[in-house]
Amino acid sequence: MDKRLIYVDNAATTKISKPVLDAMMPYLTDGFGNASSIYSIGMNSARAILKARETVAKALGAKTSEIYFTSGGSEADNWAIKCAADAGAGRGKKHIVTTVFEHHAVLHTCEYLEKHGFEVTYVPVDEMGLVHPEDIEKAIRDDTCLVTVMFANNEIGTIQPIPEIGEICRRKKVLFHTDAVQAVGNVEIDVAAMNIDLLSLSGHKIHAPKGVGAMYMRTGVNLPNLIHGGAQERSKRAGTENVAGIVALAKAIEEAVKDIPAKQAKLSKMRDRLINELTKIPESRLNGDPKKRLCGNVNISFRGIEGESLLLSLDLEGICASSGSACTSGSLDPSHVLLAIGLPHSTAHGSLRITLSEDNTDEDIDAICEAVPRVVEKLRAMSPLWERILRDEDIDAE
Ligand SMILES: *Cc1c(COP(=O)(O)O)cnc(C)c1O
Repeated sequence: MDKRLIYVDNAATTKISKPVLDAMMPYLTDGFGNASSIYSIGMNSARAILKARETVAKALGAKTSEIYFTSGGSEADNWAIKCAADAGAGRGKKHIVTTVFEHHAVLHTCEYLEKHGFEVTYVPVDEMGLVHPEDIEKAIRDDTCLVTVMFANNEIGTIQPIPEIGEICRRKKVLFHTDAVQAVGNVEIDVAAMNIDLLSLSGHKIHAPKGVGAMYMRTGVNLPNLIHGGAQERSKRAGTENVAGIVALAKAIEEAVKDIPAKQAKLSKMRDRLINELTKIPESRLNGDPKKRLCGNVNISFRGIEGESLLLSLDLEGICASSGSACTSGSLDPSHVLLAIGLPHSTAHGSLRITLSEDNTDEDIDAICEAVPRVVEKLRAMSPLWERILRDEDIDAE
């Protein structure tokens, strides 16, 4: 039998869509001009970037002048955090508020700043994976220069109370950054209405290629540069523009926000079927809030299972899924997100993340619902850990 690939790891990356590929192709071929050049193929690139900036701004409720293109989500996160810290330090403010379960692009940047004289408060999340706005409010001090809280978590899909946190930050006159890489196209975003000052997004999570992203910076925020050099991006971010990538990102975000309610309806139906079926497996649990979660996110732990073995077995069935985050697979540390919501190490190790896109079908869901229980049973039959769980031993005690 010819095995069809079932790709359900869309939080790690997505396939470039046909409309996106078609939109970017001219700039990879004859329209290769440098956007800073004055001859027509250069000017054509500059026009394409301007149009792309308008499209991205419109998708977020921002002004065109508030959008800056970057090399991806990680760069936008680094820019927002390091440069807000830099600006804050100039005014004697060297304290940052974030949460324990941010993406590593945020967490490791904060850890870097701690080594350079900044103080960081890592606000906890509850067992459902939600941040409480009052905890953010309590963490803000007179010397806080930035609050950074992700819009939606990449592992457990929980959607955070961003408008509430935005309101608090605006009232307290503290800059508010959100990593919205996973939220864009899955949740309606209006940066103005939500009091967001800085927002990061990435192309490759919404069917554009890897290596392109954007930052929204509210008028008046005016952070210093992260990347110094030429006068591109109105002198705010140097480097010859990735014209094809920028055009692709704009096309991708335009498609992504076109009909979010329809996408939510379609994906959450598939998501809930997976959750229903897979939590029927004994000693399984859903991680993250069942309702306040991304429409395409499923994250379930199976006790007595090694996540890596589960992924390898599913790969043999043509199913591409994830355990924890793609950045940490290969390492034996359990996911910091699953530990943050209170999972014991052994349970955190046996987690499966399935993230859907519009490309997935009911047949994909059927295949996963058939394969996962079978694979889990097979792996447990070989697992000494499972033996001990059945004997009711405390496997996290030692
Ligand atoms: C993927 C991801 C990033 C990093 O984006 P890149 O474009 O890969 O650098 C940052 N934050 C979150 C939440 C992500 O999911």
